[in-house]
Amino acid sequence: PSFEAALKNAVRTIPDYPKPGIMFRDITTLLGDAGAFRRAVDALVHPYVGGKVDKIAGIEARGFILGGAVAHQLSAGFVPIRKKGKLPHRTVSVAYALEYGTDEIEMHADALVAGEKVVLVDDLVATGGTAEAAVKLLRGLGAEIVAACFIIDLPELGGAERLRAMDVEVRTLISYE
Ligand code: 5GP
Repeated sequence: PSFEAALKNAVRTIPDYPKPGIMFRDITTLLGDAGAFRRAVDALVHPYVGGKVDKIAGIEARGFILGGAVAHQLSAGFVPIRKKGKLPHRTVSVAYALEYGTDEIEMHADALVAGEKVVLVDDLVATGGTAEAAVKLLRGLGAEIVAACFIIDLPELGGAERLRAMDVEVRTLISYE
């Protein structure tokens, strides 16, 4: 199968999760498939091998798994971006809108220094609200965002376009209409 087909075969779709009408793209099956996990991580790191990336920023929780593997392959540091209230030291935070209400993500204020080159990693971009908040956090600390990388794009929800409108390079490996 093609690269895309192999990755898609490894993603499991759960209808009506977490609520009716949502098709949840479950990547735990991809993570559990050694070949698919390796191919996905290799594809995410490929453009940056031999270049200079200082830090990978991963969004809780699936972005930690992928981002950790990507950081290791690039010999870059890893910065966790977490839901509010989980990090022990001084933080900076950004609130973002959900369908109902708001949420907030944060990172340690000293997790990077201005001018560092950062690649943002998460498993999936939908509306782009979470990644947009992460971009604001990182730029607020002076990071240079090299790209935002995801395994899965849901293009109908417009997240990748929303990030590109903020001058962020977006890379995704597979998409579902
Ligand atoms: P957004 O903020 O772009 O609307 O939603 C993206 C965030 O929600 C990501 O952190 C992603 O992990 C999570 N997410 C939303 N829908 C799905 C889905 O169908 N599958 C997975 N694995 N994550 C999802």
